[in-house]
Amino acid sequence: MPQNVSSAELAERLIDAVMAQRLAPGTRLSEQQLADLFGVSRTIVREALTRLTVRGVVEVNSRRGWFVVQPSPNDAREAFEARRVIETGLLLEASPGLTAAGLRTLRAHLARERRAIASDDAAQRSWLLGDFHVCLAECLGNHLLADILRDLTTRTHLISMLYQSSHEARHSCDEHAQIVAALEAGETQDAVRLMREHLQHIADELLIAAPADPLDSMRSTLAPVEAAVARRRQAGAARNLNVTPATTRGTRSSTPASATPAKSAVPPKTLKSAQALKPAASSKLLKPLIKPLT
Ligand SMILES: [Zn+2]
Repeated sequence: MPQNVSSAELAERLIDAVMAQRLAPGTRLSEQQLADLFGVSRTIVREALTRLTVRGVVEVNSRRGWFVVQPSPNDAREAFEARRVIETGLLLEASPGLTAAGLRTLRAHLARERRAIASDDAAQRSWLLGDFHVCLAECLGNHLLADILRDLTTRTHLISMLYQSSHEARHSCDEHAQIVAALEAGETQDAVRLMREHLQHIADELLIAAPADPLDSMRSTLAPVEAAVARRRQAGAARNLNVTPATTRGTRSSTPASATPAKSAVPPKTLKSAQALKPAASSKLLKPLIKPLT
């Protein structure tokens, strides 16, 4: 681990960790742990985290501390819209366009993407696929937009982690290669169309992938234990056998109402919580996440 890093370097390390999909949305960032890890003061850590708050990657809660943001479905829609506007606009407007050196850089980037995919290195692969867009902006000569795109791409990486994007790395890499080929051929309009389609594909797959049902974990935890259910059924049957003689003796009228195993014996509160675990009750949570980017 590097020691005595600046707050800007520390912020970039955290951005890289998100881009590599190592730092998940909602992760708590302990000031003290980061200070210890990087050998810096808590003041430096706070400066770095404040930078990332401004960049929309970290949020602070006065009582609970610093956290990696968890973008809402609306944040996701906005982030993809912003990327579409900036990235297609950049291709159309960039001046002086792609130079021979820029083309070499992009080709080298594509080669690194392919190597990371072939080696199944998830962190490298994720980082490189996001960085392609930043690299493209740099190669087109706009460092200001490259910085903006780094933050936007970081956000869409968080969104992909949160909403379980299944967009295949190989497809992304192929689509990147097609964009570069169109730029190389001087076909700007084709490059714009390919970029729009590429961003749409990523967003579309977020739509398909619903967020994890927050009740999933509790549902599996509280799923009936077969042996226990059978045991209880057995015990219930035995108990019924014991009460049968009383009811058949014609003493029904004198039997207290509470002795009958009626449905009303279940306390209303229990019924309510049991219903809350049914999938139907939670289906409202699985609404589409972001509107299609038309
Ligand atoms: Zn991409």
